[in-house]
Parts: sequence; structure tokens; C-alpha cells
Amino acid sequence: MKSPTKGSRVIDLQSARRARVPLDDGTLLSRIVSVQGEIAQAGLDPHKVVDVVTRRAQELTHATGAVVELLDGDELVYWSASGTVTSQLGMRVKSTRSLSGLCVETGRVLMCNDSETDPRVDIDACRLVGLRSMLVAPLPYGDLLIGVLKVVAPWPNAFHDQDVRTLELLNTLIGAALSHAAHHSSVEAAFNSKVEADRLVAEERDELRRRIRGVIDREAFELAFQPICALDTGTVVGYEALARFSDGRPRPPDRWFDDATRAELGFELEVAVARKAMRSLALLPSNTYLAVNVSPETAASAEIMRLCAGHAAERIVLEITEHSSVDDYLVLAERARLLRAMGVHLAIDDAGAGFSSLRHVLRLEPDLIKLDKSITRNIDKRVRHQSLAAALLTFAHGTSASIVAEGIETAAELATLKELGVPFGQGYYLGRPEPLIPRAAR
Ligand code: C2E
Ligand code: CA
Ligand code: CA
Repeated sequence: MKSPTKGSRVIDLQSARRARVPLDDGTLLSRIVSVQGEIAQAGLDPHKVVDVVTRRAQELTHATGAVVELLDGDELVYWSASGTVTSQLGMRVKSTRSLSGLCVETGRVLMCNDSETDPRVDIDACRLVGLRSMLVAPLPYGDLLIGVLKVVAPWPNAFHDQDVRTLELLNTLIGAALSHAAHHSSVEAAFNSKVEADRLVAEERDELRRRIRGVIDREAFELAFQPICALDTGTVVGYEALARFSDGRPRPPDRWFDDATRAELGFELEVAVARKAMRSLALLPSNTYLAVNVSPETAASAEIMRLCAGHAAERIVLEITEHSSVDDYLVLAERARLLRAMGVHLAIDDAGAGFSSLRHVLRLEPDLIKLDKSITRNIDKRVRHQSLAAALLTFAHGTSASIVAEGIETAAELATLKELGVPFGQGYYLGRPEPLIPRAAR
């Protein structure tokens, strides 16, 4: 005797079979378009997308069940299922022993009209789940075939040519939706990793800020003083204050200033160093000046003016070091005029090292031009370097400025600079940067 459930299922299947009327092309297309609309609503969740297509594949082909099987190694996994196949969700079958495996291998839609007579299918397995017809279409993803979309029915000859096209179209939709979801997730991953990178950069900057703030607050740096000499007599006329930081790893001072600028503490660090350097003025011979390195922004600040005003301003030389471009020459030139009126002297650092240093020279009419050590290097052998030094000398003459050659390391370099008429110089050959020895201790 048939159970009521089984009986009603048989009735359902028979009515489904009777209802089968092939759709015209226009209607089929409009149904596919409506599936696409549903896919769009499913969003970027691949499970939802595949579930929509599985359900609709069953409906449009008048099948009793549908399944999307995805390749996993040499097996196919029932990834999404509807109708009579729902209970088999998650099942794994060896792809070599199934019509689905053959479909992936050949890349072609395969139709089985009757499992009882088709040698390609496992007859026992079909009997077990009660199906006679199958239509299997390969599921493309990019250039790959990643599985199949299969519809099934418990009677023979259930599917038509139109169903082949339906499954092909639906599979194209799945492939596109999966690609879209994957692209989105890779974009999202890239986005997330950028957010993470930005967070790390921000954390690093915070850490850097803390460290540099500590250095500023504790004045945790030393100063070295390098003599600047009159080249004809060898007399020391001034000293350049150079910052020395000893926080863990030894790093050149310009790196420290670069870091401080990144941490938005460049100005404060420069001012802190200048403040400490100016306190040393009293320890230097009274007939010498003190050269302090500052960026154009610091040179133009009210803070540096206050500092200079609190010391013997006429013994202070501000060496304007170019690390960033000057945004407003008018402000800087005006500040330079005020500083000069106080007796402060201005020097342009690293002249000849780059375009902007020469631009500073023209715009700011400095008292001193410091010839960069790259020009001094081997000047005895390099005619072009000699020409540049000579040109700057002529310019300096015309603007009543003076020249200091930096980085003199050899007697030959010194001799050539003297011959050219460079009045002042600095470098390891004349004296290295040294900590200041208090007068009383000499
Ligand atoms: P700079 O102002 O051009 O300083 C001259 C650099 O050349 C110094 O390096 C000095 O030690 C080095 N030097 C001196 N004589 C010779 C030489 O004969 N041969 C060679 N090869 N090098 C020589 P240092 O002390 O490492 O400073 C590097 C840069 O760091 C400075 O270049 C300056 O731009 C910056 N800096 C140093 N101290 C301060 C400071 O207190 N404030 C500011 N804003 N910048 C500073
Ligand atoms: Ca300098
Ligand atoms: Ca320099």
C-alpha cells in the first residue's frame, strides 16, 4: 500500500509532467532576465546567488530537483540543491564516476534521457534516489569550469533542447555573479589591507611622535661644533652647531629632522636645538659667531626671532637649510629683513647642491653663501666645479655677501679654493665637529 505522502508526491510529479509546455524564446529570455534581477538582489553572497539559480533552474526546466555541484579535488560537492535533491545537500560523489564529472571534463551539456538505458550513469545510484532523466551543464568561472548545474526528473525524456539553453544561460549568470563577488571580495581585501597599512603608518607616526616629543621635552640631544675658518690665515671665525642624537640606533641628524617633520614636530625640534645652541654662545670665543641650522619656516617664525633677541644677535648666523620648498618668499624675505635689522646674519646652506638653494640665494640676499660639499669635493680636479664656485664668488661680490666652502677634506681642495678667492671654509681637513669644551676647563 502506498503511503499518503508518497501518493501525493506521485500526483505532483504527474501534474508537473502534464504542465510541460515549451516556452517561446522571448518568454524564456524574460524569465532569465528576471532571474538576473533576483541574483542582483541576492547581493554578493555566492551562496545566495547559487541558491536563486538552483531554484529557478528547477522551475524553468520543469524538473523535480536541481543541484549545483562544485569540484573539490576529485570529488563533486552538492553545494546548493532544491526540490527532490534538497536532502542530498553536502553530499560528495567521485567526479570520475558521474555524468557531472564527464560534463566538467568535456565542457559540454550532457543530457541523459533514461538512466535505465544510459551506460554513462550509475544505474543503481539513480534507482536509489528515484530519477530517470538528467540534464547537466558545465559551470564556468573565468577560464575554468568549476562544477555543474544539474536538473533531474523521475521520468524518462523529461528535458528538451530549450532546457539546454536555459541551463547554459543560468550558468553564465552564476559565473558572472561569482566573478563579481570574488572581484568584490578581492577589492575588499585590498581595501582592508590598505586600511590596515594606514593604521600601522598612523601607529608608527604616533610612536615616532612620542619618541621625538620626549627628545624635545628632555632636550635629549647633544651639540657638536665645527669650526669655520678664514682660509688665508686659518683663523677660526665661527662655529656651526650640529645636533647629535643618541637615542638607540645611531642615525644622522638630518634623518632625525626628517622624522620630526613627518611627525609634525620638525619646527619644535629645530627650535629646541636652536635654543640649546644659542645658550652655548657665551662659551664660544667672543670674536666668533655661531651658525645654527634652520628650515625656511623656522627662520621666518616669531619663535626664532625671540630666541635671537635674547642673545647677542650680531653673533648669530642662521643657516637656511632647504628640505622643503618655500611657499611664501614674501613672508620669508620680510622676516629676513627684520632679523637683519636685529643684527642676525643669514646664510644659504648647501648652495650648488640643487636648484632651490640657488633660488634662495637670489631671493633672500644672504650675508653668507655656503658652497655645498659636493662642489668642494675634488674641486682641484674638476673645472666645472671651479666655474660654479667662481660664478658664486662673482655673485657674492655684487651683493656684498661672502662665501664659505663646506666639506674641505684635502690640502689640494683647500689650495684650489684659496686660489679661486673663496674667503672662508669648513671641513674635516680644518676641524671636525666636536662637543664644546667649556672655557673654564681649557
Ligand atoms: P649641513 O648643515 O650641511 O652640515 C654639514 C654636514 O657636513 C655635517 O653633517 C658635518 O658633520 C658634515 N661635514 C663637515 N665637514 C665635512 C667634511 O669635510 N666632509 C664630509 N663628508 N662631511 C663633513 P651632520 O652633522 O651629519 O649633519 C648633516 C645635516 O643634518 C646637516 O647638513 C643639516 O642639514 C642637518 N643638521 C644637523 N644639525 C642640525 C641642526 O641643529 N638643525 C637643523 N635644522 N639641521 C641640522
Ligand atoms: Ca649647515
Ligand atoms: Ca651644508
